[in-house]
Amino acid sequence: MEGDIERILIDRNSIASRVTELGAQIASDFELDTGADRLVVVPVMTGALVFAADLVRVMPMRLRLELISASSYPGRATTSQGVTLGSGPTDGLRGAHVLILDDIFDSGRTLAAVRGLVAATKPASVRTAVLLRKEVGRAVDIEPDYVGFDVPDAFVVGYGLDYDGWYRNLPNIAVLRHGEEA
Ligand code: 5GP
Ligand code: MG
Repeated sequence: MEGDIERILIDRNSIASRVTELGAQIASDFELDTGADRLVVVPVMTGALVFAADLVRVMPMRLRLELISASSYPGRATTSQGVTLGSGPTDGLRGAHVLILDDIFDSGRTLAAVRGLVAATKPASVRTAVLLRKEVGRAVDIEPDYVGFDVPDAFVVGYGLDYDGWYRNLPNIAVLRHGEEA
């Protein structure tokens, strides 16, 4: 598997310290802005699984998890094929303060679609956080409230991000060797 990697973009230690920082910032902003003592975290499956697992463990507050699933790079696609939303929370978000988590923000369509679905359930507030943001033009008029790292416009894997379902377990965020994606 290591042989499939062209280069490591963000190593596991950098990810860990940034996630710790983000968790502390999100938790303290949340308390200041809302005065609320509980939060519902909504990770977008499957890519945000690893990010969410690490982030919620550095947010020392009362929270629940509600999963939602979305797909825009089905199978071997390395360009967006349009967002498909899977099943998501229905009643659990009504009146709740919600934090949506995604792995990577690219065109913005996924976050816009998920945000729309969440907003329709009438939550008290919605915030969004992404681990990575690509330095490219957006297709939609939405920016995440929190960003872990800005990354160049390359197809990345690891730390939850996949190619055709693989590589999610890599501890680093990496660029695949050219040809592995063929
Ligand atoms: P957007 O809807 O913002 O264009 O794309 C966001 C979604 O596409 C993310 O949730 C992620 O699943 C997928 N995605 C976008 N760029 C990449 C990438 O470089 N690598 C991987 N593995 N997935 C990506
Ligand atoms: Mg995804």
